[in-house]
Amino acid sequence: MPKTIRLILGDQLNAHHSWFATASEDVCYVLMEIRSETDYVKHHIQKVLAIFGAMRRFAVYLRQHGHQAHYITLDDPENAQNIGDNLLRLVEGYGATKVEYLLPDEYRVDQYLQKWAKEQTFPVDVVDTEHFLTSRFELSEIFKGKKTYLMETFYRKMRQKHGVLMEGHEPVSGRWNYDAENRKKLPKSTSIPPPCNFRHGLAELEDMLKIAGVKTLGNSKADAFPWPLDRAESLQVLEYFVAALLPQFGTYQDAMHSEEPFIYHSRLSFALNVKLLHPLEVVRRVEQAYLDAPEEIGLAQAEGFIRQIIGWREYMRGVYWAHMPEYATRNYFDHKAELPSWFWTADTKMNCLKHAIGQSLDHAYAHHIQRLMVTGNFALLAGIHPSEVDAWYLGIYIDAFEWVEITNTRGMSQFADGGLVGTKPYVSSANYMHKMSNYCQGCVYDHKKKHGDGACPFNSLYWHFYDRHRDKLANNPRIGMMYRTWDRMAPEEKGKILEQASHYLDTIEDL
Ligand code: FAD
Ligand code: SF4
Repeated sequence: MPKTIRLILGDQLNAHHSWFATASEDVCYVLMEIRSETDYVKHHIQKVLAIFGAMRRFAVYLRQHGHQAHYITLDDPENAQNIGDNLLRLVEGYGATKVEYLLPDEYRVDQYLQKWAKEQTFPVDVVDTEHFLTSRFELSEIFKGKKTYLMETFYRKMRQKHGVLMEGHEPVSGRWNYDAENRKKLPKSTSIPPPCNFRHGLAELEDMLKIAGVKTLGNSKADAFPWPLDRAESLQVLEYFVAALLPQFGTYQDAMHSEEPFIYHSRLSFALNVKLLHPLEVVRRVEQAYLDAPEEIGLAQAEGFIRQIIGWREYMRGVYWAHMPEYATRNYFDHKAELPSWFWTADTKMNCLKHAIGQSLDHAYAHHIQRLMVTGNFALLAGIHPSEVDAWYLGIYIDAFEWVEITNTRGMSQFADGGLVGTKPYVSSANYMHKMSNYCQGCVYDHKKKHGDGACPFNSLYWHFYDRHRDKLANNPRIGMMYRTWDRMAPEEKGKILEQASHYLDTIEDL
């Protein structure tokens, strides 16, 4: 009988962890499907299916490699539906003398397990997940005493520390960042390779969730489930990305299109966040692809991708641990409004939002710019409470785990942290949408009009936002020019714009 119970959470499926280097009869690994995890927010059905599907495969993998694995399904009559009671039952059942768990990434779970551990009479030890490239508090150490954390500074340190795209102490070709070159709209006659999809049959799993009464959102695709569920499949998605998509990734990183939900994006965030892939192996693979064929891949493409992973991803995690739990209460603009109900249905006349929300419901996916400049932009302009926005993002996306969701949503997208993550709010009028997408063509609203019949809501809401938050934003050196433009407008024009915005805010459900 095993003497040690080792807990593996649903986002800790790291087959290369040192725990698994040797199999031992003294150790039993436990994975559990529990209501406390399915119900803390309303999740997209694909997110629940993907996590449970991947956990089930991981248990099989462990057994195939000689380990003992105890898997508790959601419908197991003995399932207590919470981690602590399930662990106690196993400790008693096996006569185990010790529990070990891997460091959770979410503050909520971390607190829960710390408290539970203190309450036990047997030893409970915690071990690192061996996944990230930085420790929890490394970022706060780097920026000790600073009011803002510059991502670029952190990113350069990471490139140097791991020797990625470096020649000695200098970046390859002398430049650190190619962001400015990565902002092209999709040309009209582009043919984008189809996504690397799987066709898993997860109908039984979906039935189990339905019978249990788990409330979810979005379309399930359980009959031909497209996401990777194990490490081999995740590596397949990575290889496909490198071969078919990377050569254009950076160039069209910010582009949006009504018929192309994924453009050239990798769709690797789920595999990374549940630890089926290690961030450094993904980065090294892309670096190698560039070094093998620099003409074909191009430095701007490789650098643009690598920055997202060793830069933004690690950085967001550092911000999270430096500022939780108070980060989750930040609301710099004191926004209070509720999310309009069409965020859950995509039933809006605004073409950009209809597509960005519609594809999120269909695929549990939207790429970064859709999240930031369409849904996030609208929520910020409309003064939605950041907690409402957080809950939506945490539920709807396949890759949403609080450590990376909240910092992107409350921080980068909603500026609710007052500028810790971003130096200015990411807001835009219809201009940006028109420049970077085809959404405005065929929209019932006119992207050029600020007020009057059919005026695009983004245009008036944009100025309303700046006008109502003047006291908080006017001194920001990156925003001063906006106020000068606003102040130069004729008072009558300003009045019409503000009136139009107020009307739209009053009738937000009908937009
Ligand atoms: P690609 O565009 O192919 O990028 C490659 C990888 O880089 C991603 O898989 C991801 O691991 C990493 N990455 C890129 N941008 C970021 C970023 N800003 N922060 C952290 N990692 C990044 N990402 C999540 O993983 N989970 C979330 O819950 C999440 N919520 C977001 C909420 C908002 C409001 C915004 C603006 C962004 C959010 N992101 C989140 C970041 C980003 O949108 C997703 O990582 C990306 O869209 C995932 O798709 P992909 O794998 O095709 O990414
Ligand atoms: Fe969106 Fe306005 Fe363009 Fe319509 S006109 S797609 S609402 S930005």
